[in-house]
Amino acid sequence: MDRRKFLAHFGVGALGMVLAGPLLAEDKGGGNAKSNSGASSSKTGATVGSLMPGNTGANGRIVVIGGGMAGATVAKYLRMWGGTGVDVTLVEPNAAYYSNIFSNMVLTGERTLGQLAFQYSSLTSKYGVKWVAKSVTAIDPVSQRVMLSDGNSLPYDRLVIAPGVEFDALPMSGAAAAQAKVVHAWKAGPQTTSLQAQIAAMTSKDTFILTIPAKPYRCPPGPYERACVVADYLKRVKGGGKVIVLDANPGIQAEVNNFTKAFTDPKLHGNTITYVPNASLISIDADRGKVSTTAGAFTGKVINAIPPHKAGRVITDSATGLANVAGRWAGVNMLTYESTAVPNVHVIGDAAATSQPKAGHIANAEAKVCADAIIHLLRGEAVNPAPITNSACFTPITRGTASWLSVVYRYDPASASMLPTGNGVTESAGISSDNYEQMLKWFSNLMSDTFS
Ligand SMILES: Cc1cc2nc3c(=O)[nH]c(=O)nc-3n(C[C@H](O)[C@H](O)[C@H](O)COP(=O)(O)OP(=O)(O)OC[C@H]3O[C@@H](n4cnc5c(N)ncnc54)[C@H](O)[C@@H]3O)c2cc1C
Repeated sequence: MDRRKFLAHFGVGALGMVLAGPLLAEDKGGGNAKSNSGASSSKTGATVGSLMPGNTGANGRIVVIGGGMAGATVAKYLRMWGGTGVDVTLVEPNAAYYSNIFSNMVLTGERTLGQLAFQYSSLTSKYGVKWVAKSVTAIDPVSQRVMLSDGNSLPYDRLVIAPGVEFDALPMSGAAAAQAKVVHAWKAGPQTTSLQAQIAAMTSKDTFILTIPAKPYRCPPGPYERACVVADYLKRVKGGGKVIVLDANPGIQAEVNNFTKAFTDPKLHGNTITYVPNASLISIDADRGKVSTTAGAFTGKVINAIPPHKAGRVITDSATGLANVAGRWAGVNMLTYESTAVPNVHVIGDAAATSQPKAGHIANAEAKVCADAIIHLLRGEAVNPAPITNSACFTPITRGTASWLSVVYRYDPASASMLPTGNGVTESAGISSDNYEQMLKWFSNLMSDTFS
């Protein structure tokens, strides 16, 4: 794909500074190194302040909960655009963030978890973000403080919550050891390693069963991507094996053309993958490897069950009323990402209930809209009345080929929601090695924009 087509497909050209997007492949991650005040863009040996303006007239204490795709981005951009008057504290218990994006490739040995680890050192050293390695256990919106796992608390003028998702318990029976093998691996970490080992132990006679919950779930194309890379691995490395995809949804939820081809074409995974729609999970018998669904019962060696999700516990367990959408997600104002239940509290990323997908790319985009809005609010200014966001997702189909989807959203004042522009979701015309090359650059730029 040439540069012009890349810009057109991914909507980067129209977006401007405040908006997100995959950075241009040509930018090699340096594309966002400049602040909007024109501060230094030095990429190496940067000292605090060299990548951000002085006082821009925005002053306040911002606490950010969660250093994932949304939280790390908002912390960085609040400083980079807001300047020295915006005091940003990021509360995240883990020393490294393990990217979910590309974690399906850990399952097949194409990546290691270590290669997907991102630290917070750039946020602290380049942008002066304060990182507190604790969890937030409670929020007091009256005194405007968050309580930390060590018993201390932090005051805020504005709070940004980006805790990602938690998972419901599975309807499962069987011995504890058998149940422990049934993992979701839908949050990169120990479960990813466990599932990788189980797949590596499969033979050409074995079956891998993947269950997909009803939407909304994080990364709409992600489960189908997983089915493809596992099928590819079984064929390539084991010389056979089966993948059964039990989808609670009525059909494939993203990249319908490319996944339909991948699932049916015998040259791809047509002989390996069986796709079953309308298969809502009823129960799992872990001892027998039996999965019962509304579309029948299936037996397999490895069961990878992705449970329904909800917003992170700091939202759903909170007495604040933040989880005001079906008791599972946080309703937000789409111009600011401020909670519709609790003033001065913003929710971004997977935890927010929006018309946009739950995905890392758009979490990065939402974070920038939120950062821009908070900076304007701190200055007593009106916020941008017409934000634009975009989402892109590249999907490995085999080792060395990929497809992609892209969509640009624009604020619609009539519905007060973000609606897709143009033709809506665009998917790549096919599955190709060129897409795979673009995928590697896209990931590198997205993660660089988030953590560097
Ligand atoms: C297999 C897989 C593949 C994917 N592929 C893609 C893809 O190709 N493209 C794409 O755009 N998206 C993809 N996604 C989706 C993407 O990973 C998520 O949508 C994205 O990570 C959401 O970002 P987030 O910041 O909301 O949550 P997360 O990235 O999950 O970050 C949440 C952070 O909050 C922290 N936290 C939680 N609770 C607390 C607390 N109480 N106190 C302090 N910190 C807390 C956690 O430790 C974590 O670091 C994929 C997901 C999976 C599972």
